[in-house]
Amino acid sequence: MATQLYPEYPPDLNEAEQTYLLSNLKDWSIAHGLAVRPTASYVSAETDPSGALATTAPVTLFPSLFPRVCFEQAKSVAQAYNELYSAIASDEEWLKQTVEELVDIDDFIAELWKVHLAVKQEGYVQPLNLGLFRSDYMVHTDPTNPQSGPCVKQVEFNTIASSFGGLSSHVFGLHKHLLAIDAYPETVASINDKSLPESKSVPGLALGMAKAHEAYGPSTGGLPTCVIFLVQDPERNVFDQRHVEYELNKTHGVRTFRLPFGRVLEDTKVDSDRKLIYTPPHAPSKQFEVTLVYFRAGYSPDEYHSQRDWDGRLQIERSAAIKCPSVLTQLAGTKKAQQVLATPHSPHLKRFLPDDAQAAEVLKTFAPIYPMDESEAGKEARKLALDPETAMRYVLKPQREGGGNNVYRRAIPGFLKDTPETHWPAHILMEMIEPPAQDNVIFRNGELQKGGVICELGIYGACLWRDEGGQSGREVLENFEAGYLLRTKGSGSEEGGVAAGFGSVDSACLVDV
Ligand code: ADP
Ligand code: MG
Repeated sequence: MATQLYPEYPPDLNEAEQTYLLSNLKDWSIAHGLAVRPTASYVSAETDPSGALATTAPVTLFPSLFPRVCFEQAKSVAQAYNELYSAIASDEEWLKQTVEELVDIDDFIAELWKVHLAVKQEGYVQPLNLGLFRSDYMVHTDPTNPQSGPCVKQVEFNTIASSFGGLSSHVFGLHKHLLAIDAYPETVASINDKSLPESKSVPGLALGMAKAHEAYGPSTGGLPTCVIFLVQDPERNVFDQRHVEYELNKTHGVRTFRLPFGRVLEDTKVDSDRKLIYTPPHAPSKQFEVTLVYFRAGYSPDEYHSQRDWDGRLQIERSAAIKCPSVLTQLAGTKKAQQVLATPHSPHLKRFLPDDAQAAEVLKTFAPIYPMDESEAGKEARKLALDPETAMRYVLKPQREGGGNNVYRRAIPGFLKDTPETHWPAHILMEMIEPPAQDNVIFRNGELQKGGVICELGIYGACLWRDEGGQSGREVLENFEAGYLLRTKGSGSEEGGVAAGFGSVDSACLVDV
């Protein structure tokens, strides 16, 4: 069971106090773009036929409490994680072994690998890679050693389409504003100027992209250059992406376009030097050379409707544009790769992080994860997963991103019984992290939901590296932490995705515990 780590929080508000807080929250959020497009169940298509409406993003009324030591710990390993994942993404041989265990049972992974092989055969023309990563954590306390204090354990590492960096800076701004206008009762001493850390995710992510854009250099053919945001269509979380885009325009003077994933072949072409050339549909006489393709789409098999979508993915991959991420970087972020690193006694981390001190800090953040194959560890995992009692401490994950794909606790044995055994190795089995209980109030779709919540801290990292192939072919050019995100969900829900409808965006109120 989750332990009680925090004092009573948040405070109860009387009706007048709540009205004051909420009216300020709603206005500030819309005024600053802390917003999403509404779901069809909240605002029907008949009410908003032209899709003009926006609403406040699901957000917490109060910043959730988060142990300061844990926050600092998560931030302190951000650069080591950048190093680790840039090294994995540049190690085709290691990735091949990992992917080979999946290709026969996971068509999506198999198709991604084929894209890589096709480009490899032709020869890659762009050695630069950009990672805008997000490492997600929960607070863990060791029940067998309560004296040891809390630490963070990693939920997952995202190498593609890490979202909410745009909104996160603004949730911090919102909570800070509510503090400044005395919307929080003075009795809540925990919320003060020193306890609210600023999230610099908007400038951080935009800086990562600007560095990649700059490293690409000017167009050799004399065309204007641009960065492409490759997006889903429709996209409810559009303002999250827009904040980063506008920062890139305003602070770095970079031209940007949004390209729906399904239109890659319509609106781009690869020229004889493999430059990616973009023609905006609204200005067909113009051409731009694409320096960077930033993927906010293409991570889920449902987005690939036909071979044409795979051809579009291949077109980008074989082009000279920098990819954020490349196919190999996307594959480095699979749950399988995370499992191979985090299976107890795994020797793999050393291969990528030769610095022992750095590796030790990363290792501390791993929760135990097991394969579901026929190896010794896999057999042990199968036993744990099939027994209804032990399964209660685990989550079973397929190789998917974006929320809503995992199987939790009591559902695991039944799920496995309904799944052919040959497909079990497509999953990994992970120990559940049980963060300390606390309460908060979530404002979502105009309604307040008060009760127990669970927080997940995401630390963004930006990494630009050159991969010329071979053992010594990797050179890291930029490596920095790029802000944080706190997502908070009702403790009744196993899933935490904000866009998937389970969670809310939050900011941290740091406490010394
Ligand atoms: P996705 O790629 O779908 O985001 P995640 O691995 O992040 O997959 O899992 C989705 C959600 O499930 C997380 O945001 C978290 O709320 C919950 N979750 C996943 N793994 C764990 C874990 N080991 N302990 C506790 N909760 C977990
Ligand atoms: Mg996740």
